[in-house]
Amino acid sequence: MLFQISEPGESPTKVACKKRVVGIDLGTTNSLVAHVDDATAAVLDGDGGAMVPSVVAYSSAGVDPVVGRAAAARGLDAPADTIASVKRLMGRSLADVAAIQGLLPYQLVDDAGRMVKVRLGDGRELSPVQVSAAILGELRARAEAALGGPLDGAVITVPAYFDDAQRQATRDAGRLAGLEVLRLVAEPTAAALAYGLDRGTRGTYAIYDLGGGTFDVSVLILVDGVFEVRATGGDSGLGGDDIDRAIVRWAAGDGDGAVPATAPADARARRDIAGAIAAARAAKERLTDVESTAVAFTLGGRSVERAITRADLAAICAPLLERSARACRRVLRDAELGAADLDGVVLVGGSTRSPVVRDHVRAVFGREPLCELDPDHVVALGAAVQADVLAGGSSDVVLIDVVPLSLGIETMGGVVEKLIPRNSTIPCGATQTFTTYADQQTGFDLHVVQGERETADACRSLARFQLRGVPPMVAGAARVEISYQVDTDGILHVSAREEHSGVETHVEVRPSYGLTDEEVERMLMESFDHAEADLAERNLRVERIEAERILAATRTAMVQDAHLLDAEVAVATTAAMSALERLSAASDHVAIRTAIEALDRASKPFAERRMNLAIGAAMKGKTLADLERDLSGR
Ligand code: ADP
Ligand code: MG
Repeated sequence: MLFQISEPGESPTKVACKKRVVGIDLGTTNSLVAHVDDATAAVLDGDGGAMVPSVVAYSSAGVDPVVGRAAAARGLDAPADTIASVKRLMGRSLADVAAIQGLLPYQLVDDAGRMVKVRLGDGRELSPVQVSAAILGELRARAEAALGGPLDGAVITVPAYFDDAQRQATRDAGRLAGLEVLRLVAEPTAAALAYGLDRGTRGTYAIYDLGGGTFDVSVLILVDGVFEVRATGGDSGLGGDDIDRAIVRWAAGDGDGAVPATAPADARARRDIAGAIAAARAAKERLTDVESTAVAFTLGGRSVERAITRADLAAICAPLLERSARACRRVLRDAELGAADLDGVVLVGGSTRSPVVRDHVRAVFGREPLCELDPDHVVALGAAVQADVLAGGSSDVVLIDVVPLSLGIETMGGVVEKLIPRNSTIPCGATQTFTTYADQQTGFDLHVVQGERETADACRSLARFQLRGVPPMVAGAARVEISYQVDTDGILHVSAREEHSGVETHVEVRPSYGLTDEEVERMLMESFDHAEADLAERNLRVERIEAERILAATRTAMVQDAHLLDAEVAVATTAAMSALERLSAASDHVAIRTAIEALDRASKPFAERRMNLAIGAAMKGKTLADLERDLSGR
């Protein structure tokens, strides 16, 4: 036993042996690092403040890239070698990012459908993980200089919508930057922590995060000091960048033509567009402090200069903010709440500094949002609080995030069986047992899918793997237990085990590409739109498979036991079979079910004779004792 030594009236002396841990907000536009010291979280400043633009500029091979403000400055001269917005590429294939490809001034290349790569001017190819690692490396160096030694770990934040591939890519980037990633935490959860919202006993909060590239809105529920992300939503095509482009289009007065969807091949034109966007961004940011300013740039050989007021900005943003309002309403609906049920709304992200955006949030939620903490810093501050907790610091907050889209497995006929429903709080898991459809089946192709639709082809394919070496058995005898586990980082682990043989495989699903917020949004919308049709399609597929199985079994029996089939039953059965065949090709599942039942009835006398004969054969020449022994399997 150890005794604490302390003088009366003095607090016991504690020798600091605290771990050096930090929280990192790895943003699309800006990144920053924060640290908890003496129970207070603070951002770590460098030259030019806390924000490090998430931009990495590469020069020749073997030379360390430049990160941050200096890199951003280089962007206009060397767009092909200056990588910005790399967060949008994390864990995603070229096909996934096709829609935004044109907005990026650098070149993307396909890597056989795996995570997209960036191709620099000299032909070097880099993974988004490497680029993100360069940003993290910069933050790590800043933190180590500020804290006076090597870091023991970091909590990195990710959007609540990040799927397994995107989270894994973020983790890999941390590791590549030499950081021990203690945990990935959802950005809204970090924001709530920064505000100390966990100190109450209960409460319901909306976290409104409008950054440079993405928009996230989440509902968090606090029950007995424990946070739960009740629902998340958003739109990745909505952020300050989109406002900047809208301002350029407005000022240039030629609509979409000013900023074409795909970057022009001509270097000069690209440079002009980037310059115009930078000017628009600066004007927008000025409008946060003043009522009116001017925006000036040169585009298409024409110089544009136009006065812009806050009211103009509000009008320009209106269509974008309408999309935000829709996402907010949807997330409230998902959480089964009304705006009046909220205890608070937290502002996150640089774009929420703008009074235009604040007015919008106030109108959508009908209340004054919380904004005492700098909305740019709040996520990093919360990540630092979480890192401190994990390093054995102060409080004992428990954070729970959710699975953004249901996770399921493809079964016969392409029908999806959902194991983990969407918005389940993580960590979570589910196990379900499946069987074989065909006789002598010795392997299974397992297909892990994500989405709300009833059929696998309408869902997102996450991984395919195989369970091999199952001993041949009759259909329906094998028992394959599939288990899904989503860990605290939101990464999915799948295992499959055949119970009789003990054959099993474990697969840590590392999907080759990710999922965008827009896709989540789209898939959700589609699942609402298609709910009825999907259910009908699912029923149809299930009934068709059942019909196929019964037709095959009846056909085999009619050949094997032809002598048991009298003419009348044969005619009725054959007629019922062809009716069923015909209806299976059509698409009325109720009609198929009725035809299956009709076939059952028509073939019943035949089935009964076969059954009696089978029992008779089993009993022949056996005593009751023999039979009992047979049945008990001895
Ligand atoms: P991300 O989370 O995407 O990295 P941030 O939260 O850092 O982004 O937000 C960056 C966005 O915030 C940019 O679009 C920037 O123009 C915008 N922003 C920064 N400061 C202001 C301001 N004072 N007024 C309006 N917008 C701002
Ligand atoms: Mg952010």
